[in-house]
This record gives sequence, C-alpha cells and structure tokens, in this order.
Amino acid sequence: MPRNSADLHRPVQYLKGVGPRRAEKLARLGVFTARDLLFHVPYRYEDATTVARIASLRPGDDATIIGRVVSKGVIPTRRRLRIFHAVLKDDSGLIECAWPGQPWLDNTIRQGDLLLASGTVGFYHGRQMRPREHTLLASGSEAEAGSGRVFPVYRATEGLSHRQIRTIVESNLDGLLEEVAEDELFGPDWLRAIGTMPLPEALARLHRPDTLAEVEPAMRRLAYEELFFLQLLHARARYRYRSREAGLSHAAPPELTERFLRSLPYRLTAAQKRAWEEIRADLESPARMYRLLQGDVGCGKTVVAAAAMVRVVDCGRQAILMAPTELLAEQHLRTLAELLQPVGIEPTLLTGSVTGQRRSGVLEETREGRAPVVIGTHALIQEGVEFGSPGLVVIDEQHRFGVEQRRALRDAGGAADTLVMSATPIPRSLALAVYGDLDLSVIDEMPPGRKSVITGIRGTGDRAAAFEFLRGQLAAGRQAYVVYPLIDESDAVEAAAATRALDELSGLFPEFRLDLLHGRLGGADKEEAMRRFLSGETHLLVATTVIEVGIDVPNATVMLIEHADRFGLAQLHQLRGRVGRGGDQSYCVAFYTGDAPPDRLRAFAATNDGFEIAREDLRLRGQGNLFGAEQHGLPALRFADLERDHKLLEHAREKARAMVEADPELSSRPHRPFGRVLEERYADHAALYAVG
Ligand code: ADP
Ligand code: MG
Repeated sequence: MPRNSADLHRPVQYLKGVGPRRAEKLARLGVFTARDLLFHVPYRYEDATTVARIASLRPGDDATIIGRVVSKGVIPTRRRLRIFHAVLKDDSGLIECAWPGQPWLDNTIRQGDLLLASGTVGFYHGRQMRPREHTLLASGSEAEAGSGRVFPVYRATEGLSHRQIRTIVESNLDGLLEEVAEDELFGPDWLRAIGTMPLPEALARLHRPDTLAEVEPAMRRLAYEELFFLQLLHARARYRYRSREAGLSHAAPPELTERFLRSLPYRLTAAQKRAWEEIRADLESPARMYRLLQGDVGCGKTVVAAAAMVRVVDCGRQAILMAPTELLAEQHLRTLAELLQPVGIEPTLLTGSVTGQRRSGVLEETREGRAPVVIGTHALIQEGVEFGSPGLVVIDEQHRFGVEQRRALRDAGGAADTLVMSATPIPRSLALAVYGDLDLSVIDEMPPGRKSVITGIRGTGDRAAAFEFLRGQLAAGRQAYVVYPLIDESDAVEAAAATRALDELSGLFPEFRLDLLHGRLGGADKEEAMRRFLSGETHLLVATTVIEVGIDVPNATVMLIEHADRFGLAQLHQLRGRVGRGGDQSYCVAFYTGDAPPDRLRAFAATNDGFEIAREDLRLRGQGNLFGAEQHGLPALRFADLERDHKLLEHAREKARAMVEADPELSSRPHRPFGRVLEERYADHAALYAVG
C-alpha cells in the first residue's frame, strides 16, 4: 500500500537504521518524525570538485584533499609528543598527514576510511600535510557515500555523527521523497516565479547534490515556504485586526491639518510628507489603521504623529500617545503642547506621577472624551482608565513594550487606528518578518542641515584626554551627557554607580554644574533634573539609560558613554542620537574596558546611519537573536535568511496578503491546503501571535 503524506508524521524510530537509541539522539536535534528527518538538511557541504589532486600538492600549498586511509598509526617522538599519522591515497598519488598531539584519532579513523582534509603542505621526510580540519566522508566498509562529488555534512550530536546521520538519510531518502510529493502546495507557475522547484526535487538536491550550484535554488524552496506561512500568519492577523470592528473614518476637511503643517517652524522633508500621506489615507479609510512608522533617530517622527493627532481631534475624537518612560512622556507633552498650540489643542498628561485630585480630573476628562490628546506611560492602560471617544492610538518606541501592553492599549482604544513608532530603524526585511501584520511607512531622510555626530572609541588610557575635551566643550557653552550602563539589571546598583560617578566628576569639573538622572528618582525629581538641563541651568548630566530614548536637548553636544562594550548596537545608536540635535558639531565618545574594542563598537563608530547600524546588528547578532521569536510569538526561521532572502520575503508577503484578501478563511478549494498547514503546523503561533 502506498504511504500517504500523513505517514510522514510517524516517529523517526521506525525508519531504517534508526531504532530507539538513535531516535533519542535524533530528538536532541529536533528530529522526532520521518518528516523532521527529511527536513534535517545539511548545514554545509564538502565540495570535492574544488579538491586538489594529491600528486599536484607542493610544499607551501594550502589545500583540501580527499583520500582513502591506506595506513595509519601513532608514532611517539623523543619529546614524548604523540603524533597520529595517516597516509591518504587518491587516484593520483599518496601523501602523509600528521596530527601532532592527537593520538586519540587512532580510535576514530580506520584504514579504508575516506577522509577529507585541509591544511598546509610541508616538507618533512617528503611531503606532509598537517590538517587544520578533517571530515570523515565514509568509513571503509561503506560503499562510497553518495555518488556525487559533493558531500553533505549534517548537524550532529554526541553519539550520533554526521556520517551516521548521512547513512540514515541515504537509506530512507527515496521512500520519504515519494511520500512528501503530496505535500507540494505551490503550483508550477508559482514555483517558477520564485526560481525554485517542487519540494521533493528540492529535498533531493539538498540531500544529495551533484554540484554545489544546485543547493541554493533548492534551499529557496524551503525558505520560501517558511516565509510564506509567516506572512500568511501576519496577513490573517492584519485582516482580523482590520475587520474585528468597523474602523473609523477620520474624513474631516483638510483645513486644520494644513494649518498645523503651515504653523511649523520648518517644512516637512519629502520622506515625512510621504509618511504623512500614507497615514492620512489610512485615517480617512474606514478600515482600521495598523501601521509602523520607522525612521532613524531624529528623523522627525513626532511631528508626523502630531499631524495624525490633529486630524483625529478635528473629527471629534481623542488621540492617545503611549511612551515607555515618564521622562519621555513628559517631553512629548512639552513638544506637543508647543506644536499643537497654533491649532488650539491642549494635550493632557497621564502617568503614574499624576496623582490625587489632579488624577481624578484627568480620568474624568479622558472618560468623557473631553481631553483631546492624552499622553502617558503604561499608566494609560491601567484599571480605571477609560477613553470616551478614542480615535487614534500612537505607541512610541514600541519595542520597549511587551506584547501584552500593546494589546491592552489597542483594546483600550476600541476601534481606534493604531500607529506604532520604532526607536531605531530595523532593516526592512526584519520589519516585514517581525511586524508583517503592520503596514510600513519609512522616513529615510534626515531634516536638512544636520551635522553628523563625530564618534570616537577610547580605551581607559584615554580618559584624561577625553575629559579635557569635554571641559573645552562645556567652557564653550555646550552641554554634555555621561551615561552609565545598566550593570546588573537592578535600578539600585545602576543608580549607585551613577551617584559615585557624579561625585568623581564633580571633583573633576568644579567650575560646572552637574546633575544626576536615574531610574530611582521620583517622577517630579526626574522632571526637575530634565528641566534644569533643558534650560541650561546644569551643564553636565550624569545619567543612566533612562535618557536613552527620545530626549531632545539641542544644546547638548557631547555624549560620553561609559562601559560602551556593555551596550547593544541599537542602544548605542539611540544614545548617540541624544546629541547632534542642534546646529553645533556634536561628539560621541564611547569608552570600552579591556584591551581592544569589540567589533560592535567599531561598527558603531564607522557610521551614523541608523539603517546601516541595523543591518550590521543583524549581521553580528544573527537573525535568531534579533527576531525575538518567543517575544513576538512567531515561528523561528530555520531555512530562510532575512538578508539573503529579502526578495522571497517580499514576494511571500504580497502573495499571502492577496490570498487573505480574496479568501480570509482560506476555505475555497485552492486555499484549503494552506489553511490546513496553518492549523497543523502553526496553531500555537497563530494563537499567541494574534495579539500583535
Ligand atoms: P524622532 O524621529 O527620533 O522621534 P523627533 O521627532 O524627536 O525625532 O525629531 C527630532 C528633531 O527634529 C526635533 O527637534 C524636531 O523639531 C526636528 N524636526 C523634525 N522634522 C523636521 C524638519 N522637517 N525640518 C527640521 N527639523 C525637523
Ligand atoms: Mg521620538
């Protein structure tokens, strides 16, 4: 009886050459079922087509060879160094290989084994290679593994070598490939459009390619499927969000927003205009807006959000802005009070520091819909806070909020449109992967006349010079920040370090006024410290990362970061964004501890472009870490690489959105298989993820 694809879910244990003991080991690799084994594709290949012929090797060459072990043994030397020797033979000749100090290899490498080795060729009683690396391709008793010249290397685990896995895969592959044929979801035209092939063929090529060139298009098939279902999850979440409640149409005549834009002391950049137009179209449309506004630090997202607020208020509804810290909420209040004043809108603050009678008053105004613009922290989503006529929810620095908080605010907003703003940019591919349910607006241009910040990375030996430089800037009337990292996740320790630093720096700079800002200060104290710094009363602000986000003091020209090696790239860039906000040349000095700055710091100093920083961050940390799959409730990407596969991602997103637009429940015949896969493979994610 022919097997069908459901059988692929049988335990891997029952496959040829597996059994219970090996099944346990395979489980450690995430291989539980027959299907898992089929999708346990090689993570790299040894390419015998680039292998050198043994006869051609000359002393001094660095080469890779493949040969059979014709003799071997451990030779003790006079200095008691035990050397494992093996003579390798290919069809052109013989060479001796030596592994000094590794006598145990005698237990794993046998006569007759087929070995791949790479290293430098030397001369020692004849030619000799000292392999840096070697891989056992086939043991003596086996038939030549595969027939091609490309050897798959599998992720292995203790007690189960990549070669044993290869043997298991080899002996089951043909049968499994037949079974998986039914799993093909994408039609021939679809596959052709993305330059790949049907699943069985792709898997066949990945497990036993004839040439390395076959691997990439085959991998594309697996990557695409993964990206497509990710986008299908996103598309459905987006659809639900937009259709859950009839959205609001904020279709007022344009006068008030136009008046607002004319009242600005500057003109919007082309990128700001574009973003505003996209948002305006969403606001006017009855579908609910759910949009991410991305842009580099200082590109001017706030004013775009303000325009949206004006429009919503003009339609008689409330705009709500949630910021991650009180400090930032208070600053937004100041900024927006000023921006909105010409159009007669007065914003209201609601944070944990607003208490007593003041609080009751604010809550009442909010509930009755009389407060047109409410700005706050997560206090906005606490018990007892209600909005009478919410029209727009803006979430600033959204990455600082958990999924739950974002959901709570979204729910509090009823049918309101939602705009989320990122603190620092992330690459488009990452944005589409993680926030694929949102529509994306990007401000990729800075306001004119900005001087880029000059960044220096300095070791501890350069501290005195750096402080003298700082003195010069302060003497010229500028202001500066000195920032300390969160040392052990505790506010108290961090505050103590900053307090000590304040003492030390006060001694160093007796002629200037210093102040302290950290998370342990009460709201009023923070506000006071901020106000003194903003007004120029204080010159040097010693701070912890509470100043990281959003703070805007144009006269500050120096950002000195202590223990910069403890900060992430995005965070460093965010800190640097606190200077360079006025007309003066600004500087960022990053101190590192240790002998040499880590790559991250070098990358940081090399560019001021937040999008480039973001790409570098992605490269250095890997998409796994950045993806934050758990936090977002998203499936991890095993095969897709966001940088390499960004075109596939765009394609998948378009296709998935079109499919959901046409058939939201995926109930029509051609779409049903996709719906089934979502249910089978992605049920957990769909549930978790629906909260956005
Ligand atoms: P971010 O996008 O990082 O939140 P902000 O909205 O705080 O940036 O804007 C940074 C600064 O740029 C503010 O001081 C703001 O007044 C100024 N700004 C915004 N748009 C423009 C513009 N088009 N021209 C000149 N300055 C602008
Ligand atoms: Mg901002």
